[in-house]
Amino acid sequence: MDISIVVPLYNEAESLPELAAWIERVMAVNGFSYEVIFVNDGSTDSSWDVIKRLAAENPAIKGVAFRRNYGKSPALNTGFARAQGDVVITMDADLQDSPDEIPELYRMITRDGYDLVSGYKQKRYDPLSKTIPTKLFNATARKVSGIHNLHDFNCGLKAYRNKVVKHIEVYGDMHRYIPYLAKLAGFNRIGEKVVHHQARKYGKTKFGLDRFVNGYLDLATLWFTGKFGGKPMHFFGLLGSVMFILGFIAVAVVGFGKLWDMHHGNPYILVTDSPYFYLSLTLMILGAQMFLAGFVGELVARNSPRRNDYEIEEDLC
Ligand code: UDP
Ligand code: MG
Repeated sequence: MDISIVVPLYNEAESLPELAAWIERVMAVNGFSYEVIFVNDGSTDSSWDVIKRLAAENPAIKGVAFRRNYGKSPALNTGFARAQGDVVITMDADLQDSPDEIPELYRMITRDGYDLVSGYKQKRYDPLSKTIPTKLFNATARKVSGIHNLHDFNCGLKAYRNKVVKHIEVYGDMHRYIPYLAKLAGFNRIGEKVVHHQARKYGKTKFGLDRFVNGYLDLATLWFTGKFGGKPMHFFGLLGSVMFILGFIAVAVVGFGKLWDMHHGNPYILVTDSPYFYLSLTLMILGAQMFLAGFVGELVARNSPRRNDYEIEEDLC
């Protein structure tokens, strides 16, 4: 099979027939063999009925329904597990992404050798309250992930080599960082294609402004686990040691300073009257805590059943 199209959706009943017809048209014109996997993320409208009807009309249309609303990432992950096509395309169900982009995305994966191609909504039809924070979000994501050529990490329209979706796990709200997940899994041929974007025709957006707060927290998590997940001591141990040593030096200076002054008959103040005493106390306590956090982290990492799971690309043994 050439293409699997994975569509996560939550209350998008009005859009679905139009989207399915449009996909069918593009696939027929280009002669692709394909499947569409609609993942119904616990919709409370008639989305699932619509999907069942569409599936009855066209055997290429498939669906899977969650019992409740889990979020876009779990929906994508479920679709990925089922995808059989050589190239996997994800797109939003709200008709903001155009199926007309699919042939070119397919070509970029199969001919140009990309592992992942992300859409770039260069001209967006979204409110300003969304586009401005998005710019900031993408700049940060570029910096942290080291994927400097992407302008639009969270674009719903993306194409993947089948192997990529089988080797990444999208959970929580991590769909915003799939290119980063792919890179962490060792897929680094990541490209971008400018895509057309349309205003939402039916229904309303499912994400509020909290997406940006949560987005940054998730980015911090990914960065940390990607860099130190397997060796937390390298982060906490270093930080803790530096803090402890600084605190120790400072307290030593305060203590010896006083003894020196006493010995030479100079006026002196109580150690506890010096602000540096409290600063060094804080540094030493926090430093020791950091160090311990590193140890506990190492114990956790040591017990992970996946600590020696490596992706082996080729093996001549
Ligand atoms: N979506 C989903 N589960 C959710 C929220 C959203 O499957 O809990 C789907 C939604 O139906 C749409 C896609 O994710 O197909 C993108 O959502 P939306 O269009 O609301 O996001 P926006 O375009 O505003 O970023
Ligand atoms: Mg949308």
